[in-house]
Order: sequence, then structure tokens, then C-alpha cells
Amino acid sequence: DSSLKQTLVNSIRNIPDYPKQGVMFRDITTLLGNARAFRRAVDELVHPYAGGKVDKIAGIEARGFIIGGAMAHQLSAGFVPIRKKGKLPHDTVRIAYSLEYGLDEMEMHRDAIIPGEKVLLVDDLIATGGTAEAAVKLLQQLGADIVAACFVIDLPELGGRKKLEALGVNVRTLID
Ligand code: 5GP
Repeated sequence: DSSLKQTLVNSIRNIPDYPKQGVMFRDITTLLGNARAFRRAVDELVHPYAGGKVDKIAGIEARGFIIGGAMAHQLSAGFVPIRKKGKLPHDTVRIAYSLEYGLDEMEMHRDAIIPGEKVLLVDDLIATGGTAEAAVKLLQQLGADIVAACFVIDLPELGGRKKLEALGVNVRTLID
């Protein structure tokens, strides 16, 4: 509803020219620090999935850990991290993906998902969708049944939602 959207929009801080000239960064630390906004965002993200519809939340480093951890607790689901390369200690699957300049790689533990488990992918924001697309591919490689990909913020002009939907993934976002 519009009061929820207003609460969330008002709690997000806009930082011009960060991390570089011409970019408007949407800073969610102010949302996380606002008890009411944080609770309402998490409640709204999880509500379609209550009642055992999800086995695990997969959160993308680093802000996806914070939102995803709260969602996992609320849904009594497990939490699995999708991390930057080199951070996970056990056997991993790894994928390269392109950033604005150059490549990066993300990893998951090979045994993080039992094939067929119902998984929600979570991050704070979707822009071009490149990060989430790579995460979807890792989850699919592990045999996850991806119930949806959830984000607090969508930047629709950058096309990320369409990119994920073209892969057959349901996308749930709270504000544009
Ligand atoms: P994409 O791969 O969709 O282009 O970029 C999304 C990734 O970059 C997410 O992991 C997200 O956390 C981060 N990101 C890009 N722009 C912003 C922004 O303005 N605010 C925040 N909080 N994260 C951003």
C-alpha cells in the first residue's frame, strides 16, 4: 500500500555521485536503522511465503545477508550465503559475472542446497540484474527450486526485473 511505500521511500537516503560521478546511490543503512521501516520491509517481503512455502533464503553479500537473515527467521527457513569469491571455507560452486567495469565472481557452498529445496533469493536492490542473474545460475546449478527473487528496491529503467523474468524467475520488489 502507499503508506508502506512512503515509509520505505522516506527511510532511504539518496547519495549523489556515489560511488562515482553521475550515480545516485540508494543508501539503505538508514532504512535498516529505522526499526519500523526495517520491520515493515521484512514483513512485506515474507508475507506471501508464510506457512512452509520456503525451505531456505539465499542472501547475496552483503546487504542481502541482513534482509535475508531477518526473512529466514520470520519464515523459520534456513539461510545460505552467496559470497564474493574466496570467503567460503568448504567446497564451492563459482560463477563469473560482469560489473560495470570488469568481472567479479561469486560462490556458494556445494552442499548449501539439497536439490528440490524451495529457495527465495534476496538482495537489497536490483539494478541491471547482473548480480541476481549470476546468483540464479548458481542456485539452479545446485538444483534449487527458486520460488522468487526478492528485493526492497527496483531500478526499473536498468532492466533487471525483465532480465530475471526472462529466465522464468518470479520477481518481488517493494518500491521503484
Ligand atoms: P546489478 O547487478 O543489478 O546491476 O546491481 C545490483 C547489486 O549492486 C546489488 O548487490 C546491490 O546491492 C548493489 N547496488 C547497486 N546500486 C546500488 C544502490 O544504489 N544502492 C544499493 N544499496 N545497492 C546498490
